[in-house]
Amino acid sequence: MKNMIFIAPPAAGKGTQSKIFSEKYNIPHISTGDLLRQEITCNTPTGKLIKSKIENGEFVDDDIMYELLYNRLKENDCSNGYILDGFPRNVEQAISYEKILESLNKELGYVFLLDIPREIAKERILGRLSCSKCGKVYNETAEYLLPNVSGICDICNSPLTRRKDDTLEVFEDRYNLYLLETKPLIEYYNKKGNLYVIDSSINAMYTKEQIEKIIKGS
Ligand code: AMP
Repeated sequence: MKNMIFIAPPAAGKGTQSKIFSEKYNIPHISTGDLLRQEITCNTPTGKLIKSKIENGEFVDDDIMYELLYNRLKENDCSNGYILDGFPRNVEQAISYEKILESLNKELGYVFLLDIPREIAKERILGRLSCSKCGKVYNETAEYLLPNVSGICDICNSPLTRRKDDTLEVFEDRYNLYLLETKPLIEYYNKKGNLYVIDSSINAMYTKEQIEKIIKGS
């Protein structure tokens, strides 16, 4: 399977689609946000720095990102393809990512842009809940994304919590950063011929079907 990258504003469904295709093709889902959150739980000085950046809706420094990503992509389970969720987030990261690919003898693969209007992104962010134990994500904005019992995870019965960066204020910062830093990647990958634009504003199933059509047709 070719490698896949998801580029998107906050709450466009990067995590959901990554999980779907990771299971379908049996390839790892590498979320840079998750790698960073794991680092925070170690409570190291780097973890503390990462925590404050994430909670303020800022990007984590590039050198931390490259090291985390390079070490993860070197692992054996990435040899038959992987899904990258949340990286690159700007053109500088895209250029460095190409160096990582070259040194690990890997290909860029598909770049999917999950496109949603700002207002929908905002509603989804404010409705997002995730399991404190297994990480499964729910959303109050759609009936099919609600847990069976309010506030409790369907999978492991643990309480659901809100991410600290899922507030209106942090959303505005994250969205503006997306427009400023991440949106230029669209042109960058378009020129390379690897970009596929997906309408992610309807629901997860519709998004999934569009991605599948592209994979089948290529
Ligand atoms: P996510 O889980 O993808 O929404 O990411 C959560 C937060 O982690 C982002 O708002 C950033 O603060 C940080 N982050 C994730 N990926 C990157 C990246 N590639 N570069 C810099 N910061 C990142």
